[in-house]
Amino acid sequence: MSAFKSTGRRKFLKLSALAATAIPFFRFRTVPGNSKIGSPVLVSTWRNTDANAAAWKVLSSNGHALDAVEQGARVPEANPKDTSVGYGGLPDREGIVTLDACIMDEKSNCGSVAFVQGFKHPVSIARMVMEKTPHVMLVGRGAEQFAASQGFKRENLLTKESERAWKEWLKKSEYKPYHNPGQHDTIGILALDGNGNLSGACTTSGMAYKMHGRVGDSPIIGAGLYVDGEVGAATATGVGEEMIRIAGSHTIVELMRNGRSPQEACEEAIKRLISKRGEEKARELSVAFLALSRSGEVGAYSTNNVFEYTISSPDHQHVVIKSPSYFN
Ligand code: ASP
Repeated sequence: MSAFKSTGRRKFLKLSALAATAIPFFRFRTVPGNSKIGSPVLVSTWRNTDANAAAWKVLSSNGHALDAVEQGARVPEANPKDTSVGYGGLPDREGIVTLDACIMDEKSNCGSVAFVQGFKHPVSIARMVMEKTPHVMLVGRGAEQFAASQGFKRENLLTKESERAWKEWLKKSEYKPYHNPGQHDTIGILALDGNGNLSGACTTSGMAYKMHGRVGDSPIIGAGLYVDGEVGAATATGVGEEMIRIAGSHTIVELMRNGRSPQEACEEAIKRLISKRGEEKARELSVAFLALSRSGEVGAYSTNNVFEYTISSPDHQHVVIKSPSYFN
Protein backbone atom coordinates (compact mmCIF):
# COMPACT_ATOMS: atom_id res chain seq x y z
CA MET A 1 0.00 0.00 0.00
CA SER A 2 2.57 2.54 0.96
CA ALA A 3 5.87 3.76 -0.21
CA PHE A 4 6.36 4.86 3.41
CA LYS A 5 6.53 1.16 4.11
CA SER A 6 9.69 -0.82 4.06
CA THR A 7 7.96 -4.18 3.70
CA GLY A 8 8.37 -6.20 0.51
CA ARG A 9 4.69 -6.34 -0.27
CA ARG A 10 4.62 -2.60 -0.36
CA LYS A 11 7.47 -2.14 -2.70
CA PHE A 12 7.13 1.13 -4.36
CA LEU A 13 5.61 0.92 -7.83
CA LYS A 14 8.05 2.07 -10.41
CA LEU A 15 5.73 3.34 -13.06
CA SER A 16 7.33 4.83 -16.08
CA ALA A 17 7.78 8.57 -16.15
CA LEU A 18 5.23 8.54 -18.92
CA ALA A 19 2.56 6.89 -16.79
CA ALA A 20 3.32 9.19 -13.89
CA THR A 21 2.93 12.35 -15.87
CA ALA A 22 0.47 11.27 -18.51
CA ILE A 23 -2.25 10.01 -16.13
CA PRO A 24 -2.23 12.26 -13.10
CA PHE A 25 -6.03 11.97 -13.09
CA PHE A 26 -8.89 10.58 -15.04
CA ARG A 27 -11.73 12.64 -16.31
CA PHE A 28 -15.19 11.17 -16.46
CA ARG A 29 -18.36 12.69 -17.70
CA THR A 30 -19.85 15.58 -15.83
CA VAL A 31 -23.45 15.23 -14.71
CA PRO A 32 -25.89 17.84 -13.59
CA GLY A 33 -27.97 17.80 -10.39
CA ASN A 34 -29.02 14.41 -9.12
CA SER A 35 -29.08 12.66 -12.44
CA LYS A 36 -27.84 9.10 -12.72
CA ILE A 37 -24.20 8.79 -13.54
CA GLY A 38 -24.08 5.10 -14.23
CA SER A 39 -20.28 4.96 -13.95
CA PRO A 40 -19.01 4.23 -10.48
CA VAL A 41 -15.52 5.45 -9.56
CA LEU A 42 -13.44 4.43 -6.59
CA VAL A 43 -10.06 5.68 -5.43
CA SER A 44 -7.97 4.74 -2.44
CA THR A 45 -4.65 5.85 -1.07
CA TRP A 46 -1.61 3.70 -1.79
CA ARG A 47 -1.46 0.30 -3.44
CA ASN A 48 -4.79 -0.94 -2.25
CA THR A 49 -5.92 -3.30 -4.98
CA ASP A 50 -7.50 -5.82 -2.59
CA ALA A 51 -9.44 -3.09 -0.80
CA ASN A 52 -10.57 -1.65 -4.11
CA ALA A 53 -11.64 -5.10 -5.31
CA ALA A 54 -13.84 -5.56 -2.21
CA ALA A 55 -15.35 -2.09 -2.60
CA TRP A 56 -15.81 -2.56 -6.32
CA LYS A 57 -17.93 -5.65 -5.71
CA VAL A 58 -20.42 -3.39 -3.95
CA LEU A 59 -20.29 -0.62 -6.55
CA SER A 60 -20.53 -2.92 -9.53
CA SER A 61 -23.65 -4.55 -8.15
CA ASN A 62 -25.32 -1.16 -7.87
CA GLY A 63 -24.55 -0.84 -4.15
CA HIS A 64 -24.25 2.40 -2.21
CA ALA A 65 -20.92 4.22 -2.00
CA LEU A 66 -21.06 4.10 1.82
CA ASP A 67 -21.16 0.28 1.84
CA ALA A 68 -18.37 0.21 -0.73
CA VAL A 69 -15.96 2.37 1.27
CA GLU A 70 -16.67 0.46 4.47
CA GLN A 71 -16.09 -2.90 2.79
CA GLY A 72 -12.92 -1.60 1.19
CA ALA A 73 -11.51 -0.21 4.44
CA ARG A 74 -12.17 -3.47 6.26
CA VAL A 75 -9.71 -5.32 4.01
CA PRO A 76 -6.45 -3.74 5.29
CA GLU A 77 -7.96 -3.55 8.79
CA ALA A 78 -8.14 -7.35 8.84
CA ASN A 79 -4.75 -7.92 7.22
CA PRO A 80 -2.06 -8.71 9.83
CA LYS A 81 0.65 -7.93 7.27
CA ASP A 82 -0.55 -4.39 6.92
CA THR A 83 1.37 -2.66 9.68
CA SER A 84 -0.37 0.69 9.54
CA VAL A 85 -4.05 -0.22 9.72
CA GLY A 86 -6.12 -2.37 12.08
CA TYR A 87 -4.91 -5.82 13.10
CA GLY A 88 -1.12 -5.94 12.88
CA GLY A 89 -0.80 -2.14 13.03
CA LEU A 90 2.43 -0.95 14.64
CA PRO A 91 1.84 0.10 18.25
CA ASP A 92 2.54 3.33 20.09
CA ARG A 93 5.59 3.84 22.31
CA GLU A 94 4.00 1.79 25.08
CA GLY A 95 3.49 -1.16 22.75
CA ILE A 96 -0.26 -0.59 22.49
CA VAL A 97 -2.11 -0.63 19.16
CA THR A 98 -4.58 2.26 19.03
CA LEU A 99 -6.82 2.78 16.02
CA ASP A 100 -8.56 5.77 14.44
CA ALA A 101 -11.19 5.81 11.69
CA CYS A 102 -14.06 7.76 10.22
CA ILE A 103 -16.72 7.48 7.56
CA MET A 104 -18.93 10.03 5.80
CA ASP A 105 -21.74 9.96 3.24
CA GLU A 106 -23.11 12.29 0.60
CA LYS A 107 -25.47 13.99 3.04
CA SER A 108 -22.59 14.81 5.40
CA ASN A 109 -23.71 12.18 7.88
CA CYS A 110 -20.51 11.09 9.56
CA GLY A 111 -19.12 8.95 12.35
CA SER A 112 -15.69 8.67 13.86
CA VAL A 113 -13.73 6.80 16.50
CA ALA A 114 -10.28 7.51 17.88
CA PHE A 115 -7.81 5.93 20.28
CA VAL A 116 -9.67 2.63 20.11
CA GLN A 117 -7.95 -0.47 21.46
CA GLY A 118 -8.82 -4.13 20.99
CA PHE A 119 -11.20 -3.91 18.04
CA LYS A 120 -10.16 -4.80 14.53
CA HIS A 121 -12.67 -2.79 12.51
CA PRO A 122 -12.81 0.83 13.66
CA VAL A 123 -14.37 1.88 10.35
CA SER A 124 -17.44 -0.22 11.12
CA ILE A 125 -17.59 1.12 14.68
CA ALA A 126 -17.43 4.63 13.19
CA ARG A 127 -20.35 3.74 10.95
CA MET A 128 -22.32 2.56 13.97
CA VAL A 129 -21.54 5.85 15.75
CA MET A 130 -22.96 7.61 12.70
CA GLU A 131 -26.06 5.46 12.43
CA LYS A 132 -26.91 4.54 16.01
CA THR A 133 -25.92 7.53 18.15
CA PRO A 134 -26.69 11.24 18.14
CA HIS A 135 -22.92 11.89 18.10
CA VAL A 136 -20.19 12.11 15.51
CA MET A 137 -17.15 11.00 17.46
CA LEU A 138 -16.40 8.59 20.29
CA VAL A 139 -12.93 8.04 21.69
CA GLY A 140 -11.03 5.59 23.87
CA ARG A 141 -12.93 3.63 26.49
CA GLY A 142 -16.27 5.10 25.52
CA ALA A 143 -15.80 4.02 21.91
CA GLU A 144 -14.76 0.55 23.08
CA GLN A 145 -17.78 0.21 25.36
CA PHE A 146 -20.00 1.27 22.51
CA ALA A 147 -18.32 -1.22 20.15
CA ALA A 148 -18.83 -4.05 22.64
CA SER A 149 -22.48 -3.05 23.07
CA GLN A 150 -22.92 -3.33 19.29
CA GLY A 151 -21.53 -6.85 19.23
CA PHE A 152 -18.02 -6.12 17.99
CA LYS A 153 -15.54 -8.71 19.22
CA ARG A 154 -12.62 -7.72 21.46
CA GLU A 155 -9.30 -9.12 20.29
CA ASN A 156 -5.58 -8.66 20.59
CA LEU A 157 -4.33 -6.58 17.67
CA LEU A 158 -0.60 -6.72 18.36
CA THR A 159 0.89 -9.40 16.12
CA LYS A 160 4.23 -11.06 16.90
CA GLU A 161 5.81 -9.20 13.97
CA SER A 162 4.60 -5.80 15.15
CA GLU A 163 5.69 -6.57 18.70
CA ARG A 164 9.11 -7.56 17.43
CA ALA A 165 9.38 -4.34 15.42
CA TRP A 166 8.38 -2.29 18.47
CA LYS A 167 10.98 -4.03 20.67
CA GLU A 168 13.59 -3.29 18.05
CA TRP A 169 12.49 0.35 18.00
CA LEU A 170 12.70 0.47 21.82
CA LYS A 171 16.45 -0.09 21.67
CA LYS A 172 16.90 3.46 20.37
CA SER A 173 13.43 4.83 21.10
CA GLU A 174 13.94 7.34 18.33
CA TYR A 175 10.73 8.99 17.24
CA LYS A 176 10.81 10.86 14.00
CA PRO A 177 7.31 11.79 12.93
CA TYR A 178 8.46 12.87 9.48
CA HIS A 179 9.04 11.00 6.28
CA ASN A 180 10.11 7.74 7.76
CA PRO A 181 9.62 4.72 5.56
CA GLY A 182 7.67 1.99 7.31
CA GLN A 183 6.33 4.19 10.05
CA HIS A 184 3.17 5.73 8.73
CA ASP A 185 0.47 5.15 6.23
CA THR A 186 -3.30 5.05 6.10
CA ILE A 187 -6.09 4.00 3.83
CA GLY A 188 -8.42 6.73 2.69
CA ILE A 189 -11.05 5.52 0.24
CA LEU A 190 -13.53 7.59 -1.77
CA ALA A 191 -16.37 6.27 -3.88
CA LEU A 192 -18.95 7.61 -6.28
CA ASP A 193 -21.65 5.04 -6.92
CA GLY A 194 -23.78 4.47 -9.99
CA ASN A 195 -26.54 6.66 -8.57
CA GLY A 196 -24.21 9.60 -8.04
CA ASN A 197 -23.78 9.20 -4.27
CA LEU A 198 -20.37 10.05 -2.83
CA SER A 199 -18.92 8.55 0.36
CA GLY A 200 -15.54 8.20 2.00
CA ALA A 201 -13.76 6.34 4.78
CA CYS A 202 -10.38 6.63 6.40
CA THR A 203 -8.73 4.15 8.79
CA THR A 204 -5.31 3.87 10.42
CA SER A 205 -3.25 2.72 13.36
CA GLY A 206 -1.62 6.15 13.10
CA MET A 207 2.03 7.00 13.25
CA ALA A 208 4.08 4.09 14.53
CA TYR A 209 5.53 4.58 18.02
CA LYS A 210 3.47 7.71 18.53
CA MET A 211 2.94 9.06 22.05
CA HIS A 212 0.26 7.15 23.90
CA GLY A 213 -2.99 9.04 23.34
CA ARG A 214 -1.88 10.74 20.13
CA VAL A 215 -4.60 11.06 17.50
CA GLY A 216 -3.82 12.16 13.96
CA ASP A 217 -5.91 13.47 11.11
CA SER A 218 -7.54 10.22 10.04
CA PRO A 219 -10.59 10.26 12.37
CA ILE A 220 -10.95 14.05 12.20
CA ILE A 221 -13.76 15.04 9.85
CA GLY A 222 -12.34 17.79 7.64
CA ALA A 223 -8.71 16.78 8.13
CA GLY A 224 -8.31 13.12 7.09
CA LEU A 225 -11.63 12.96 5.25
CA TYR A 226 -14.38 15.20 4.00
CA VAL A 227 -17.36 14.54 1.75
CA ASP A 228 -19.91 16.97 0.36
CA GLY A 229 -22.36 15.20 -1.93
CA GLU A 230 -22.90 18.38 -3.95
CA VAL A 231 -19.21 18.95 -4.61
CA GLY A 232 -16.79 16.09 -4.00
CA ALA A 233 -14.68 14.26 -1.47
CA ALA A 234 -11.10 14.30 -0.28
CA THR A 235 -8.90 12.20 1.96
CA ALA A 236 -5.34 12.33 3.23
CA THR A 237 -2.37 10.25 4.28
CA GLY A 238 0.96 11.09 5.84
CA VAL A 239 1.93 13.16 8.84
CA GLY A 240 -1.49 13.81 10.35
CA GLU A 241 -0.54 16.88 12.33
CA GLU A 242 0.05 18.72 9.05
CA MET A 243 -3.38 17.91 7.63
CA ILE A 244 -5.07 18.98 10.84
CA ARG A 245 -3.28 22.35 10.74
CA ILE A 246 -4.83 23.23 7.39
CA ALA A 247 -8.07 21.22 7.75
CA GLY A 248 -6.78 19.62 4.56
CA SER A 249 -9.64 17.51 3.25
CA HIS A 250 -12.22 20.20 3.95
CA THR A 251 -9.98 22.78 2.33
CA ILE A 252 -9.83 20.69 -0.84
CA VAL A 253 -13.60 20.24 -1.02
CA GLU A 254 -14.08 23.98 -0.54
CA LEU A 255 -11.57 24.72 -3.30
CA MET A 256 -13.52 22.36 -5.55
CA ARG A 257 -16.74 24.14 -4.58
CA ASN A 258 -15.11 27.33 -5.80
CA GLY A 259 -14.35 25.86 -9.18
CA ARG A 260 -10.97 24.13 -8.83
CA SER A 261 -10.60 20.67 -10.31
CA PRO A 262 -9.72 17.91 -7.82
CA GLN A 263 -6.15 18.04 -9.13
CA GLU A 264 -5.84 21.81 -8.72
CA ALA A 265 -7.41 21.62 -5.26
CA CYS A 266 -4.99 18.94 -4.04
CA GLU A 267 -2.05 20.95 -5.38
CA GLU A 268 -3.25 24.12 -3.71
CA ALA A 269 -3.67 22.39 -0.34
CA ILE A 270 -0.18 20.89 -0.51
CA LYS A 271 1.29 24.26 -1.51
CA ARG A 272 -0.49 25.95 1.39
CA LEU A 273 0.93 23.40 3.78
CA ILE A 274 4.41 23.86 2.35
CA SER A 275 4.23 27.64 2.47
CA LYS A 276 3.26 27.49 6.15
CA ARG A 277 6.11 25.13 6.99
CA GLY A 278 8.74 26.55 4.70
CA GLU A 279 10.27 24.45 1.97
CA GLU A 280 13.18 23.18 4.02
CA LYS A 281 11.07 21.61 6.73
CA ALA A 282 8.29 20.57 4.35
CA ARG A 283 10.80 18.53 2.37
CA GLU A 284 10.91 16.07 5.28
CA LEU A 285 7.14 15.78 5.51
CA SER A 286 5.25 13.07 3.71
CA VAL A 287 1.73 14.33 3.14
CA ALA A 288 -0.60 13.38 0.30
CA PHE A 289 -4.14 14.22 -0.70
CA LEU A 290 -6.55 12.36 -2.93
CA ALA A 291 -9.80 13.89 -4.22
CA LEU A 292 -12.83 12.84 -6.22
CA SER A 293 -15.39 15.25 -7.63
CA ARG A 294 -19.08 14.47 -7.83
CA SER A 295 -18.64 14.19 -11.58
CA GLY A 296 -16.06 11.43 -11.15
CA GLU A 297 -12.88 13.41 -11.73
CA VAL A 298 -9.86 12.34 -9.67
CA GLY A 299 -6.92 14.38 -8.40
CA ALA A 300 -3.88 13.54 -6.28
CA TYR A 301 -0.83 15.43 -5.07
CA SER A 302 1.83 14.90 -2.45
CA THR A 303 4.77 16.68 -0.90
CA ASN A 304 7.39 14.12 -1.94
CA ASN A 305 7.32 11.65 -4.78
CA VAL A 306 6.40 8.51 -2.88
CA PHE A 307 2.64 8.62 -3.09
CA GLU A 308 0.58 6.30 -5.21
CA TYR A 309 -3.12 5.58 -5.28
CA THR A 310 -5.43 2.92 -6.67
CA ILE A 311 -8.32 3.68 -8.99
CA SER A 312 -11.23 1.51 -10.04
CA SER A 313 -13.83 2.35 -12.65
CA PRO A 314 -15.48 0.41 -15.45
CA ASP A 315 -12.32 1.10 -17.45
CA HIS A 316 -9.72 0.77 -14.70
CA GLN A 317 -9.79 -2.39 -12.66
CA HIS A 318 -7.79 -1.46 -9.57
CA VAL A 319 -4.98 0.34 -11.34
CA VAL A 320 -2.15 1.81 -9.27
CA ILE A 321 -1.15 5.32 -10.29
CA LYS A 322 1.87 7.33 -9.20
CA SER A 323 0.83 10.74 -7.89
CA PRO A 324 2.56 13.91 -9.00
CA SER A 325 4.38 15.70 -6.18
CA TYR A 326 5.79 19.09 -5.20
CA PHE A 327 9.30 17.82 -4.46
CA ASN A 328 10.98 15.25 -6.66
N1 ASP B 1 -2.31 10.16 8.68
C1 ASP B 1 -2.02 9.11 9.64
C2 ASP B 1 -1.83 9.73 10.99
O1 ASP B 1 -1.24 10.79 11.09
C3 ASP B 1 -0.83 8.31 9.31
C4 ASP B 1 -0.55 8.03 7.87
O2 ASP B 1 -1.30 8.31 6.98
O3 ASP B 1 0.50 7.50 7.57
O4 ASP B 1 -2.19 9.11 11.98
